[in-house]
Amino acid sequence: MPFSHAFDVLIIGGGYSGAALAVRLSREARRALSVGVIEPRDEVGKGVAYSAVHPDYRLNGPDAVHIVMPDRPNDFHDWLQREGILEADFKGWAGSGVFFARRADFGRYMAELFQGHQAVNGTGTDLIHIHARAMSLVTGHDFSMVTLDKGQQLTARLAVLATSNEMPAVPKTFQGDVRLQSGFFPNPWDLDRLAALVPDAPILVLGTGLTAADVITALAFHGHTGPIDAVSRTGLLPMDQNPMPDKETMWERFLQKPPRFIKKHGALTNVADILRCLRRDIVDRAAEGKTWHGAFDDLRDAVRTLWTDLPLAEQQRFRRHLKSWYETRRFRIAPQVQAVLDDYQKAGRLTISAARITSARRSEGGGVAVTFRSRAQDVTWEKNYGAVINCTGLNTSPDDSGNPIMEQLAFTGAAIPHPTGHGFLVDRECRAISASGEPQAALRIIGPLTRGTFMESGSVPAISYQIHKIMPDVLAALNAS
Ligand SMILES: Cc1cc2nc3c(=O)[nH]c(=O)nc-3n(C[C@H](O)[C@H](O)[C@H](O)COP(=O)(O)OP(=O)(O)OC[C@H]3O[C@@H](n4cnc5c(N)ncnc54)[C@H](O)[C@@H]3O)c2cc1C
Repeated sequence: MPFSHAFDVLIIGGGYSGAALAVRLSREARRALSVGVIEPRDEVGKGVAYSAVHPDYRLNGPDAVHIVMPDRPNDFHDWLQREGILEADFKGWAGSGVFFARRADFGRYMAELFQGHQAVNGTGTDLIHIHARAMSLVTGHDFSMVTLDKGQQLTARLAVLATSNEMPAVPKTFQGDVRLQSGFFPNPWDLDRLAALVPDAPILVLGTGLTAADVITALAFHGHTGPIDAVSRTGLLPMDQNPMPDKETMWERFLQKPPRFIKKHGALTNVADILRCLRRDIVDRAAEGKTWHGAFDDLRDAVRTLWTDLPLAEQQRFRRHLKSWYETRRFRIAPQVQAVLDDYQKAGRLTISAARITSARRSEGGGVAVTFRSRAQDVTWEKNYGAVINCTGLNTSPDDSGNPIMEQLAFTGAAIPHPTGHGFLVDRECRAISASGEPQAALRIIGPLTRGTFMESGSVPAISYQIHKIMPDVLAALNAS
């Protein structure tokens, strides 16, 4: 089918963000729309996180927070039930009676949800999967034109960039010769290469976040017996889930106005004050026998409001000093994955440390020799590894992302990167801000690429809420409200 006609909406990127937006447009518009989703993968809805096929890769939050349609908050849970997964996947149940589904299952749910709405939806909207990669985009006052990898050009009244962040960048120390060494793994999700590793090879995992946890889980699954060192500047692992899960759903918490933290402490505009109030809340809760989780979650729910009012210097200070601290509490680990890490640590097979890597060189048999400097003491040491796996976190900088459309938007000034270096600058309605400082009516950006602007826009519930917030404005701009 030639896609030469104008669309109402062209969504670039068909991971969770793009699929969720498409599904909601098809349910909530007041007229039939024409919506194209440009996505090179075979299915829309899975993206990077939920294309994972490994059976031990689990959602890092309960099924109940993985929401697409606020009017059907239990839809994923009901789907799990219908598919018999709640019963068959008994490992998904955590001790707290909460279910942590496989990421592959959420991916299948999302793909089916999109396909179901393609087949039939209440507004008669056309949802079209355009199986291609978008290379560049130009915007006019009331249209965007997207050029695809095969040279086709498509126009729409509105383009929405939902391409998210890119693969982890290779740290400088590992560039050059070392990067080409067979023992260097730039892509942490290359399961075939992980499975083919010599079972007793010593392994270095670069990073101690959720990606590192993925990799260690996969190594455990394949029966790896060799020592694993995981290293980051902080040496902090993601924290555990709330042992006393909240009675309120995350959706109910998001809808509270003002968020509980702001109601209690006011709209604070510097990071030190925010932290002081958080510490006080944690102490108050501890006096009631409660863990830190609830106090932190109150802050999390308020961050999207507080963050946009923080001066840039405060945002940058937070990023420099507190980002890792915040992220280890914010992006918690599924209990099943934590159990694997605990077992490995107890058996002395996994060591987590805070250190800086000062150099890396090729060593015998395709391996890599790495020199470290410890964070606490001024000690330097070198160690040989059979494999080094890059889990340093996704690349959040659009201008050197390697993704042509993001680099082109940043280069032409059609959308400017956020000054903190995390994604693009957008206004409250997710309109891209151009180099002239103007919000672009025909280009919106959603999902993790708006992290610099909102801080909380990287997880399923946060993206879902972001779409919810901009939906009235988007539909009004399309004359479909
Ligand atoms: C490994 C991993 C696990 C995670 N687990 C969880 C979790 O358990 N719970 C949670 O809430 N959050 C989780 N997250 C956070 C995750 O970012 C969000 O949940 C969500 O998946 C983001 O979806 P997205 O569509 O914005 O991005 P992506 O999933 O990255 O999708 C972007 C899509 O854009 C496409 N694309 C890229 N460039 C182009 C182009 N030029 N043209 C056309 N298409 C393009 C890509 O093919 C891709 O499919 C996880 C993230 C990762 C990386």
